Amino acid sequence: MSRLLVIGCGGVAQVAIQKCCQNSKVFTEMCLASRTVSKCDALKEKLEKQGTSVKITTATVNADDVNDVIKLIKEYKPEAVLNVALPYQDLVIMDACLECKVDYIDTANYEPEDTDEPVWRAAYEKRCKEKGFTAYFDYSYQWAYMDKFKEAGITGLLGTGFDPGVTSVFTAYAKKHYFDEIHTIDILDCNGGDHGYAFATNFNPEINLREVSANGSYWEDGHWVETKPMEIKRVYDFPQVGQKDMYLLHHEEIEALGKNFPEVKRIRFFMTFGQSYLDHMRCLEDVGMLSTSPINFEGKEIVPIQFLKALLPDPASLGPRTVGKTNIGCIFRGIKDGKERTIYIYNVCDHQECYKELGSQAISYTTGVPAMIGTALVLSGQWKKPGVYTTDEFDPDPYMDMLGEYGLPWVVDENPQLVD
Ligand code: NDP
Repeated sequence: MSRLLVIGCGGVAQVAIQKCCQNSKVFTEMCLASRTVSKCDALKEKLEKQGTSVKITTATVNADDVNDVIKLIKEYKPEAVLNVALPYQDLVIMDACLECKVDYIDTANYEPEDTDEPVWRAAYEKRCKEKGFTAYFDYSYQWAYMDKFKEAGITGLLGTGFDPGVTSVFTAYAKKHYFDEIHTIDILDCNGGDHGYAFATNFNPEINLREVSANGSYWEDGHWVETKPMEIKRVYDFPQVGQKDMYLLHHEEIEALGKNFPEVKRIRFFMTFGQSYLDHMRCLEDVGMLSTSPINFEGKEIVPIQFLKALLPDPASLGPRTVGKTNIGCIFRGIKDGKERTIYIYNVCDHQECYKELGSQAISYTTGVPAMIGTALVLSGQWKKPGVYTTDEFDPDPYMDMLGEYGLPWVVDENPQLVD
C-alpha cells in the first residue's frame, strides 16, 4: 500500500505514471499534479478506461512555489514525491519534502532557470574555477541536503532516469558481479531513431539544448578535463542499431561515479548526433537562439531558448512518427581475480514498440521506466536510506531485475568493441 504524488505530466512523467499502474502491488494510490492539470486529467481518464486498480486523483501545482507544493503534500499526504517536472524545480520540491518529511525522487540534476541570477552566478563561477567544469548543473546543491534528509529520516533518490540512473546502476552491478576494480567507464548513449523532422529534441528542448551545446568534459585521474562542445568525436558500431557518430559530452553521472568509485581512472560520456541535428544546433547557437539570458522584444522580455522551445515539436508528440532503436549502456574495463576484463552492459529499446505499449517514444520510455523502478524501491523499503543518494549507492540487483520485468532488458557482452 502506498500513496505517491507525481509532479509533472510531460513525456517522461506519462511513461512513469503508466508504469506505476502496471506495478499496482506497490503503487495503490497516486495524485498526478502539474502546472497544466488538463494533461493529468487526460492521462487519468486513459488509465481508468484501461481498468487500472490504482486510485488516481489530479491537482494543479506550481512547483516553483514551495508553499504551493507543501500545501498539496499536506492535503494529499503521500509517502513519496516523484519529481518529473524540470530540473529547475528540484530544490523547491526537496524543500517541500523536507518540511513534510516525505521521500523524494527525481530524474535530473538541479540547474537554475535563470543563469544570470547574481548569487547563483557567483557560486557557479567559483565552482568552474575550483572544479574545472562549466556545466550549469552539478550535484553540490542537492548533496547539501544530506544531513537535513538524514535528520528528517527521509530518502532522496537523485537521478533515476536512464542516464543518469540506469547507467549508474550498471556500474554498481558491474562492480558487484564482474570486477574487483573498475579502471575505465565509457557511457554510450545512442539514439538511432528517426522522427522525420529536420530538427526536434527527444526530451524537453530547453534542457536538452542547454546540455548538448555546452562544453564537454571527462573525469581522469581524479580531476575534470574540459573540451570544446563536440570537440571529441568517435564512431561506434552499436548492436542492433549500426554505425553512428558520437561526441563526448559532460554528463551528470560522471560527477557521482567519480566520487563514489574513486578507483576509476577515467569516465567518459558519448552521445550520438546526426549531421542535420548538429548543423541546426550550430546555426541556432550562432544567431543567439540558444541563449538563456532574457532579451527585450517589442517591449516584452523573452528568453530566446524558451521562445525556440515554443516553436519546436513537443517531445511527447514524437511517438507515432519515430522509428528505430536506442542503445544505451556502459563499457567497463578493469581487473577480476588478477586478470584484465572488459564488459559492455546495454539496453536496446525500440521506439515503435514503446509507442505501441504506452503511446510514447523510447527516450521518454527509457527515462520513465527507471523513474518508476527507483520510486518503487524506495516505497517498498529496499532502497530506503535516510539521506540523499544517487542510484549507484544501493544494491543494484533488485533494480536490474525490475528493468527486465518492466520493458528494459539488458545484455552483458564480454567481448565488446572498445572506444579509443
Ligand atoms: P516535459 O517538458 O515534457 O515535461 C515537464 C513537465 O513538468 C510538464 O508537464 C510541465 O508542465 C511540468 N512543469 C514544468 N514546470 C512546472 C512547474 N513550475 N510546476 C509544475 N509543473 C511544472 O519534460 P520531459 O518529460 O521531457 O522531462 C522531464 C524530466 O526528465 C526533466 O527533468 C528532464 O531533464 C528529465 N530527463 C531525464 C533523463 C534521464 O535519463 N535521466 C532523460 C530525459 C529527461 P506544463 O506542461 O504545464 O508546462
